[in-house]
Amino acid sequence: MTRRKRLLLFVLLLLLLFQLPFVLSLYRTARLHRYLASLPLVDIPKPPFQDIRGGIHIHSAAGGHSLGTYPEIIEAAKKCGYRYLFITEHPKPHSLFQQVIDPDIVTIYGWDERQGGAGEMLCTGDRAICFQSGDDRPVAAHAKGLEIFNLHQSAILKDSWFNRVSFFYHRLLHPELYFFKLWAVDPSYLRTWDQELRNRHLTGIGGSDAHQNIGLVLQTTAGKRLWALMADPYPESLTAVTTHVILRYGEAVTSDSILASLVAGSAYVAFEKIADPNGFSFHAIEEGQPRPMGSTVRPGAGLVAQAPRRAVFHLIHNGKVRQMETGTRLVAKAMEPGFYRVEVHLPDPPGDLEGKPWIISNPVYVK
Ligand SMILES: [Zn+2]
Repeated sequence: MTRRKRLLLFVLLLLLLFQLPFVLSLYRTARLHRYLASLPLVDIPKPPFQDIRGGIHIHSAAGGHSLGTYPEIIEAAKKCGYRYLFITEHPKPHSLFQQVIDPDIVTIYGWDERQGGAGEMLCTGDRAICFQSGDDRPVAAHAKGLEIFNLHQSAILKDSWFNRVSFFYHRLLHPELYFFKLWAVDPSYLRTWDQELRNRHLTGIGGSDAHQNIGLVLQTTAGKRLWALMADPYPESLTAVTTHVILRYGEAVTSDSILASLVAGSAYVAFEKIADPNGFSFHAIEEGQPRPMGSTVRPGAGLVAQAPRRAVFHLIHNGKVRQMETGTRLVAKAMEPGFYRVEVHLPDPPGDLEGKPWIISNPVYVK
């Protein structure tokens, strides 16, 4: 073998070795794909309340540092089965002037802004209702809710050169599962929430913080986009995390009913890349009547959780896991005062899913 051939072989070998970690990462994703595809749907009773899928903390170009437009967001949301959207923009003069109203989806236009020392707040247009974007600041007294997950922060936590290169490999096989490489549930978010819940009602919400601004874009100097390969297209971020709102059957889906339920805490957060959570319910039973998340019940009330797939239910009382149940249903009694909430995990998950919840409910309060 000539020297040149040996050198060529060596370079080829190096190139092959370079692929190995990425191929391994892709292999783990393929294993996750097989696992998720093998989860059978199970028969469960019809939930006692209407379940409205939607998303909170979404940005467009109107608020800056995003390339998205309202029609694009609305189209993506409808594709993801959303029935409401809470768009929050960084305030800019006239930034909301091009609001789009669509008959098939309730769209709430609001703000994402820093309010003094209170941290980042997600507010309605009139700023009457605000939710705090999740970080470790003290939670503002006027916050009606708190982000218990923020996709953008999660992606920053998991950002690495390895994951960036891995994105291109995932384009080949499972682009829809690349999210799992960027998914970290920051326990400090849940700790802050549990601490607050000891003293007051506070709704947990999921924030996609969707910008559709990460990726490669080729555009003319006039701003005309010629080609784009985005890591965070809206349909991807909008399915990564959702906040489902619970309404009574027959109750109209309007911005008022959505906001009232969000403030009341009749809502839950889901990671839908794992599985469709529709059919999930966590509620109390008092005097034979179901009471939704966010309700206050007396000690001795029943608690019921159900999920449309075999799952591991963690019943959490005042921040501590009190009961764990594997199956499609958890039944318990709320004997002590405080708050009870549920986290739903999948049984025997593969590596990329280990320790990560599928669904996080809001609490039922006992007084
Ligand atoms: Zn934001």
